[in-house]
Amino acid sequence: MPVPEVRRRRRRTKVVATLGPASSTPEMIYELFSAGVDVFRLNFSHGSHEDHAQRLAMVREVESQTGRPIGVLADVQGPKLRVGRFRSGHVELRAGQDFRLDLMDTPGDARRVQLPHPEIIEAAGLGTHLLLDDGKIRLEVVRRAQDLLETRVITGGRLSDRKGVNVPGALLPIPALTVKDRADVAFAVDQGIEYVGLSFVQRPEDVAEARELAGGKAWILSKIEKPQALAALDAIVALSDAIMVARGDLGVELPPEDVPLAQKRIIRTARAAGKPVIVATQMLESMIHAPAPTRAEASDVATAVFDGADAVMLSAETAAGDYPVEAVRMMDRIVGRVERDEGWREVNAASRPEPEHTTSGAIASASRQVADTIGAQAIAAFSHSGFTALRVARERPDAPVIGFTPMKTTARRLALVWGVHALEVPETHTMTETVAKATSLARREGFANRGDEIVVVAGVPFGRSGTTNALRVATVSRSAAAAHAPDTGAAGSEV
Ligand code: PGA
Ligand code: MN
Repeated sequence: MPVPEVRRRRRRTKVVATLGPASSTPEMIYELFSAGVDVFRLNFSHGSHEDHAQRLAMVREVESQTGRPIGVLADVQGPKLRVGRFRSGHVELRAGQDFRLDLMDTPGDARRVQLPHPEIIEAAGLGTHLLLDDGKIRLEVVRRAQDLLETRVITGGRLSDRKGVNVPGALLPIPALTVKDRADVAFAVDQGIEYVGLSFVQRPEDVAEARELAGGKAWILSKIEKPQALAALDAIVALSDAIMVARGDLGVELPPEDVPLAQKRIIRTARAAGKPVIVATQMLESMIHAPAPTRAEASDVATAVFDGADAVMLSAETAAGDYPVEAVRMMDRIVGRVERDEGWREVNAASRPEPEHTTSGAIASASRQVADTIGAQAIAAFSHSGFTALRVARERPDAPVIGFTPMKTTARRLALVWGVHALEVPETHTMTETVAKATSLARREGFANRGDEIVVVAGVPFGRSGTTNALRVATVSRSAAAAHAPDTGAAGSEV
């Protein structure tokens, strides 16, 4: 395989790509990474544990070939509701006809089908709307009896086996994690991934439950795809480590015209909390079968960048499409083009949230200001947990952020975060040593030349999470020694 040329990406907004049948060879994953992927997503709605384990191993192999930390998101299906099967595989439903949903485990026909979720039958009331197959078919409940719902078809169409069911109006009395999800989370965490993606979060308690299950070994990413989650957005963001604007299901649960505003609101809330946020689904949808996107898709990616999302995501485009590498390249080009624009820089500066009223928030905000004022080439943020790098990234500084950490997991987690060039480095123990390390890294990674200044932030004493309280301005050493002994941890390059 070729020697990696990708030491450093120029863009700030990250790219997430879903792996699937179209992208499951080592060569393909290497190509996707080279084209711009920062985080790979394993979609546990499809594929076996064996498939996911193999893909994960391939990602780790690319990581060791390139020496760049790569994040992995294990996205679990959640309580996705589905109808049962039909005798002939599908039926045609006509507007105005009656259609029954019941618990009987027998093949359906034009009059009825199984809905194997007693909780839904219980929670639905007269007038409740059920959306089937990504919202293509709409049913209204006209009568509820024991163990069944009698519905009227509002919008008809072809309904086939095991199609999904959304119930936008109801807070469903179902846990966020099914039996399958629990097994998937345990498996993924055991394999060693960075993020667990939690589907159909409805309540803050759902996030707490997943966090307990992950046992601190992965960050919890809540997918916002239910109106109920939007209603409890602040609390859900507060309990999560990261957020996804999951527009696929959100666009079924909400009218289409509400989705763009929901996207902006979710991003704003996540950014204010300093939690990474991904915009997902249909971003370059037409590239599943075409080598170029539509104008509207290019605009959509650009909008997410203007909104200040940490990352944009590809789903079927890379998992099952005909042009996975082209899709990543296209995303990389659109993001890069926007970020080179002066107008984007102005929007970026103007949309910065107010500093957090904490010591960490003040230091992070100051680091951005100092870097701007003196034209520093980078802000180097040192931390074990990633906390300091997150605080600095929240400021959306013009200068690139070097997030360095002795923890491999932290470096991988930071791969998702806006503007952060993550690096795993050997432990440093004093501020002097850390500043020396930061300057040598800035030079080695091509951020700064001899004589340039960088801003270094860290928490002292080291090793205690949640403290960002030290800021230093350092000049990259003129002595050659620093550049050639980057990983020794020696203090020889002290400024
Ligand atoms: P999914 O989630 O692809 O797992 O459904 C993303 C979304 O709904 O947009
Ligand atoms: Mn979804």
